[in-house]
Amino acid sequence: MQISFHGAADTVTGSRHLVQIGGQRILLDCGMFQGFKALRERNWQPPPRELVEADAVVLSHAHLDHSGWLPALVKHGFRGPIHASPATRDLAEVLLLDSAHLQEEDARRANRYGYSRHAKALPLYTRRDVQRTLARFQPLAPGRELSLGKLRIALTPVGHLLGACAVRLQSGNERLVFSGDVGRQDDLLMPAPQPLPEADVLLIESTYGNRVHPQEDAAARLAQIIRDTVGRGGSVLMPAFAVGRAQALLLVLQRLKAADEIPPDLPLYLDSPMAVQATALYHKHRRLLRVGAREADRLSDGVHMVGDMRQSMRLVRSRWPSVIISASGMATGGRVLHHLKAMAPVDKHHIVFAGFQVGGSRGAHLVAGAGEVKIHGEVVPVRAQVSQLEGFSGHADADELMAWLRGLRRPPRQTYVVHGEPDAADTLRLRIQDELGWQVRVPQHGETVDA
Ligand SMILES: [Zn+2]
Repeated sequence: MQISFHGAADTVTGSRHLVQIGGQRILLDCGMFQGFKALRERNWQPPPRELVEADAVVLSHAHLDHSGWLPALVKHGFRGPIHASPATRDLAEVLLLDSAHLQEEDARRANRYGYSRHAKALPLYTRRDVQRTLARFQPLAPGRELSLGKLRIALTPVGHLLGACAVRLQSGNERLVFSGDVGRQDDLLMPAPQPLPEADVLLIESTYGNRVHPQEDAAARLAQIIRDTVGRGGSVLMPAFAVGRAQALLLVLQRLKAADEIPPDLPLYLDSPMAVQATALYHKHRRLLRVGAREADRLSDGVHMVGDMRQSMRLVRSRWPSVIISASGMATGGRVLHHLKAMAPVDKHHIVFAGFQVGGSRGAHLVAGAGEVKIHGEVVPVRAQVSQLEGFSGHADADELMAWLRGLRRPPRQTYVVHGEPDAADTLRLRIQDELGWQVRVPQHGETVDA
């Protein structure tokens, strides 16, 4: 078996691992690079032939750092099937179309205002490329096995996000398992990850490989923030990943309202067309969720779903205290930028980040206490309060990852730690080596190994 690490090997984004096993070349994930500019520039490099000529892609889940480069791969000539769980396929449609739309808009804006350094800014891919990509999807139900020649492929749910799964590739007695992103034991919406399948070679994510989530009650802290902010006439802005985190936050806010922890008549806005679509998919796939059908059905009760851009701009100008959930989650694009521009300079408001902020993103700068941020080419001063509530993270922390690994009966022959910033990946590597005594290493970007 041979593995080439084409992404998420020295960072948390751009997940792409090419595996040669059982006479097949399988690309595990095809994610977009995000964060630091040097990483984002990798999105513009043409893919090596071996990626374009892969026999199939197997997608762990729909987040863009795992799926967001698929349309570019198809644009470069990939013609194989893309296997993913049915819920992942549904979410990928929403996420990829939105991603294409954002890129088309960014290119248009850059051309109109002339702030691109290139003669003419082009989108990485268009909605047409996404449609061609969606046509290549072949849903694979978790727990079922798919045969490709001598190779068998299976998916195991791992919490984290609707449809998210670990991937197992098996040829004869050889088994490779790729964790994808691993969820938490007590996630708000998703059940705990199922046990890790037995593996000879294991690829494990390490987003929080060097951190343990705080024990604090994130919901109680959010309630406090909302009460304080609204009490002084301000509003709370929650940049949130439109798919997954936005729905989890709606659940928390509904519970806080029901318990009178925040004013029951406080207006809640979901200002992200993608989040509105994704919420509908959470309803559709509600049997995959941890919460009961009744609570799932009421996620958006009383929530103002902001539709077109005019409504969104009206909300930006509104002076009425409210809670606004808007995408993107790392404030790298989308409607949340208009809210940020209006709210960041005003000290009565509070900006609450609920998810992981990749290094180099606007969200990471804000969380680190930046005094100003650049938005649409303008410098915006930051006087509003900024908080990060890691308790709402959708990722297992280091202790949860270790507990999941301990569930294996036999150690893998070789473990590779992927999908982490360098310190996180190396810290998890050391724990696996010291606490479990396994053969483990962190691969380098672009490296090929015989495993
Ligand atoms: Zn993810």
